[in-house]
Amino acid sequence: MLDYSSLLIALSFCSAGLAVTFFVSWFVSRADHVLLTWGIGVSFLVASLLAYSEFVSHFSPPLGAFAFGAMLLGLIFFMGAGRQFRTGVLPLRTMAYAAALSIAAMATPMLQGYDGISYIVLNIAAMTILLATGLDYWRLRLDSPMLISTLAALYVLVGLSFLPCAILLAQNGEWVMHHAPVNWAEDINLAMCLTGIGSMGALSLGLNQIRLTQRHKLDAETDALTGLFNRRALIARTQNLPAPSAVVVFDIDHFKQVNDIHGHHTGDAVLQMFGDILAMAVRKNDMAARLGGEEFAVVLPGATAIVAALIAERVRQNFTDHRFTSAAGNFTNTVSAGIPHTVDEEIDLGVLLQQADTALYEAKREGRNRVIFFADKTSLVPMDGPHRTDFEPIRKSVKSG
Ligand code: GH3
Ligand code: MG
Ligand code: MG
Repeated sequence: MLDYSSLLIALSFCSAGLAVTFFVSWFVSRADHVLLTWGIGVSFLVASLLAYSEFVSHFSPPLGAFAFGAMLLGLIFFMGAGRQFRTGVLPLRTMAYAAALSIAAMATPMLQGYDGISYIVLNIAAMTILLATGLDYWRLRLDSPMLISTLAALYVLVGLSFLPCAILLAQNGEWVMHHAPVNWAEDINLAMCLTGIGSMGALSLGLNQIRLTQRHKLDAETDALTGLFNRRALIARTQNLPAPSAVVVFDIDHFKQVNDIHGHHTGDAVLQMFGDILAMAVRKNDMAARLGGEEFAVVLPGATAIVAALIAERVRQNFTDHRFTSAAGNFTNTVSAGIPHTVDEEIDLGVLLQQADTALYEAKREGRNRVIFFADKTSLVPMDGPHRTDFEPIRKSVKSG
């Protein structure tokens, strides 16, 4: 049968392995600072367990204060890591306050020989920190429900297992003990910690991995310049459009001239502005994408062609109204849009995009700056966009240049 001290040493070895795992994981993925925070937290736990296993056989107040202090720091780093995982920012100030408060409250009685009181403070502080951490994860549960709920539950259960330890010591009035407390609550607490540390470590790593995969997936689906979906993401996300659904494809007019006259950088700024205008014009469930170059599309599930035309017209108007400035002069720009048939039964997006292309070709041919329906090639908007004297429409400035 293993004695208490050997169990503590076993737990410290298990934690040391976990700390190494966190540090190595951080080393290969440096941007994930949370892995470093977790690694530091587990390292404090290892130091604490080693010191505590010595403390239980040779009572010494400074050693006790060190062991408990390291444990509190370890838990505070876990708490910080939880917040960092949720918000991306390590709450250093909160961590410093929590450390100063809990360590002072724990070490003062310990160094005066009241180790029982110190134990009680330690148990209550540990419980509070773990519960706060569990709560922080719980707020994030929608991200990955199974994993996060399990992790949050583990923090709460391990945290709660400290409570009976504090209550028993207080009930028995054991203010001065000069030995480790021995009772059922301590046994349960140790068992919970033994189970908890390994699984919390593995779950945290798993969670980080899931987040990484989600980030890569999002990167692969996002157009880097505008932040909109790219063509691949749009196709993937519109496999089964409900009926009715509508699509609009936009193509910025004379965009090559923007690059030629105002430079590629300004061209990029125009694309970004169009992306912003498009994103603002659609509802939450609509999908706005940059198909490539200066071609954009919105898919509007549940919308008819008429609604699509209203949105297309609003986008056209907002874009036409925008005044761009560059070193080569001020200018305005226009955009043409094509609207394919409304989806009333299953039509694949490829067919709709082809129809939109045909409508767009018609829009360009008829003089640009308009919205055209594929169905009857009717133009929704005659080309009468506002022309300002101080802001040259891009086509006019080409002619004069
Ligand atoms: P139209 O009115 O007929 O649509 O004429 P257009 O000039 O807009 O069309 P064209 O297809 O001739 O030119 C598109 C230009 O878009 C050519 C290409 O250099 C430019 N382009 C494509 N991608 C980007 C980009 O990411 N940034 C910038 N600045 N320009 C781009
Ligand atoms: Mg084009
Ligand atoms: Mg164009």
